[in-house]
Amino acid sequence: MSTLKAVRGTRDLLPPETALWNRIEAVARSVFERYNFGEIRTPVFEDTGLFARGVGEETDIVSKEMYTWEDRARAQSEKSQSLTLRPENTAGVVRAYIEHKLGETGQLQKLYYIGPQFRRERPQKGRYRQFSQIGAEVIGPVSAGSESPVRDAEVLEMLATLLDELGISGWTLKINSVGSASDRPAYIAKLKAALEPVVGQMCEDCQRRAVTNPLRVLDCKVPHDQPFIDALPKIADSLDEASRTHFAAVCAALDAAGVPYERDHRLVRGLDYYTRTTFEFTHGGLGAQNALLGGGRYDGLSEAIGGPKAPGIGFAMGEDRLVLTLQELDAAKAELADAYIAPLGEAQNPAALGLARELRRGGLRIELGDGSFRLKKSFEAADKVARTIVLFGENEAQSGILTVKNFSSGIQSKIARVELAAHLVAARTK
Ligand code: AMP
Repeated sequence: MSTLKAVRGTRDLLPPETALWNRIEAVARSVFERYNFGEIRTPVFEDTGLFARGVGEETDIVSKEMYTWEDRARAQSEKSQSLTLRPENTAGVVRAYIEHKLGETGQLQKLYYIGPQFRRERPQKGRYRQFSQIGAEVIGPVSAGSESPVRDAEVLEMLATLLDELGISGWTLKINSVGSASDRPAYIAKLKAALEPVVGQMCEDCQRRAVTNPLRVLDCKVPHDQPFIDALPKIADSLDEASRTHFAAVCAALDAAGVPYERDHRLVRGLDYYTRTTFEFTHGGLGAQNALLGGGRYDGLSEAIGGPKAPGIGFAMGEDRLVLTLQELDAAKAELADAYIAPLGEAQNPAALGLARELRRGGLRIELGDGSFRLKKSFEAADKVARTIVLFGENEAQSGILTVKNFSSGIQSKIARVELAAHLVAARTK
């Protein structure tokens, strides 16, 4: 009998990795609390219609990735029903908002969630069939200010804070505006017209999207299609006055808060419900699946699933990808030597070897340079392999006071030789 294994695209999370998952969730909860968000927990499966209407029939998620089944009635009083494992959580949160009449409070609802989502995707590193998202939504009646650009900027600023507190350095925020229900149709008409003469030369997915969901053509990553896409009209040129002003206000608030971002006029994202602001945080360490999180504004979603007008903005971050990024950052840090000793001149090589021996015997990881290198070359070599560089010239040898530069802080200091080992150990956690 063959042994049973976890299903393709799913996996077990074991210690010690689960400790990292718990830490990420604890940091996320702490940040959400400080921004006055409360937790919502919605069911893992919902009526299939919720996703068909809420996410959009033409999206990849709904058209090919959902785990859907016909749930048999158990009693005569019940009807059989088509159910789906949630592929994302925004539609469920908005359903709950409508079902519990949260709009009637007149307040903005600020809700966060952490939990598994399910998509039948092609599994690879960073992409699974069961994965976990940490997300949040700000939704409410217009009178509560739910359309205000300050809400968009606050969510983005919160995300920058969350990633920084998690220790994920080197992220990039890309933002765009995809327009509103009133200005988007005009852009889509322009896009269709511009695509018509060229789409025959583009990839199969683009040919299909040009008919079903032309905005998604902008998302295409196939290299051969890029010149065609670059020549298409830009959505920024089709925004009406209200959308333009809204987007400018989001950017101005980000500037004022000091949150760095890039504008990316091709950022449309895969879900149909987005209006106006769309955004994505990416990280270079993730490779092909480089999106850490994505989100945007969805002013018409509540109405699309039968609720009152309730504009909102939200995001979902891939927890699996946060874990991968942190593992890579930690691994990269751990592999660095504690110090690179740079002898200043060949005459210092023997004494520098003595210093390296002393430090290595003390348990430190040391790279020894070469006194025949020019200083610039030593710095370049050191920066690649070590956290700090220790300059070791004749003066240093005689005085016992060494010049030490830490690469991550950029701080250069004088350290007594007897204190060097302790200084280098302390620098490991900085
Ligand atoms: P989306 O709901 O498609 O906007 O995705 C939001 C975030 O969830 C992405 O930026 C990813 O970090 C993560 N994500 C989406 N799909 C998967 C998947 N199949 N496996 C792991 N993470 C995913």
